[in-house]
Amino acid sequence: MTLLSIVVPCYNEEEMIPIFYNELKAILNEKLSFYNYELIFIDDGSNDESLSKIKEIAKIDKNSYFISFSRNFGKESAIYAGLQSVKGDYIIIIDVDLQDPPSLIPKMISCLETGKYDSVGTKRSTRKGEPFFRSLFSNIFYKLINKLSKTEIVSGARDFRVFNRNMKDAILKISEYNRFSKGIFQWVGFKTKWLEYENIQRKKGDSKWSFWKLFKYSLDGITDFSTALLSISTIAGIISSILAFIFIIMIVIKTLAFGDAVAGWPSTISVILLIGGIQLFSIGILGQYLSKTFLETKNRPIYITKESNRK
Ligand code: UDP
Ligand code: MG
Repeated sequence: MTLLSIVVPCYNEEEMIPIFYNELKAILNEKLSFYNYELIFIDDGSNDESLSKIKEIAKIDKNSYFISFSRNFGKESAIYAGLQSVKGDYIIIIDVDLQDPPSLIPKMISCLETGKYDSVGTKRSTRKGEPFFRSLFSNIFYKLINKLSKTEIVSGARDFRVFNRNMKDAILKISEYNRFSKGIFQWVGFKTKWLEYENIQRKKGDSKWSFWKLFKYSLDGITDFSTALLSISTIAGIISSILAFIFIIMIVIKTLAFGDAVAGWPSTISVILLIGGIQLFSIGILGQYLSKTFLETKNRPIYITKESNRK
């Protein structure tokens, strides 16, 4: 029998875990009873009762497992830990907050079973219900990253996915510390079918994403999948140097021809500011990449397990 592995990252989701389990279990019983399943909850260092909720489920459902992190490592690390431990033929990544409808899983599986695709991804069809500025910045982000990076990042794509074992093995080979799943899933290639659905509001609890976190996440996405920003600073540097060089020659000629009255102070200051700005900008970009390289060369583990019932 085909084995489905369901990976569920959870961070402070005590309210959602039982609701999610019941809804998923219903789908598994009704629509997917021809499959065996294993359910892997990753407790990403929650501070609430999430872990005990998961343990309760593991007690009554022998196909349920948990991996509990020593602290919060982030969803990307949770996904990685889940993928490392799965044994199934088809792997499903799904949020616990029911924003990824479990009712879509049977359809996703049957798409895979046609054999035409290695992966079935989901994306939201509209950004309805999202704050105006968040949509605006998302759109700018996707335009920008797709200009800068050779890896296509699909706008509105969610992490809700089903894929086969080949693709899972490929994803695991990418063991980088700075993980940007939306990019990694595309980067490994394989054939992906996209399904769309309307955005669903979270049932209980809060989103772990603030605007600022999302902003940093988008910067990470860009620097993880493109080095184009490094060339921007080079180009800006070259242009400003040429401009500065022309200015100097003009000033020398002007002084020789007309002598020097202390005129031109404002323009001098503006030039200094401009060049200073470009320099700081370029150093900032260098810093971004340097810090990433720094973290990668440390070769730290992507997550640390504190407790698990998974061998
Ligand atoms: N999550 C996680 N670690 C984190 C943040 C979130 O494992 O540090 C999980 C969370 O429990 C949920 C999923 O990732 O199952 C998506 O999180 P959230 O709903 O906050 O994101 P959004 O849907 O707002 O993008
Ligand atoms: Mg959510």
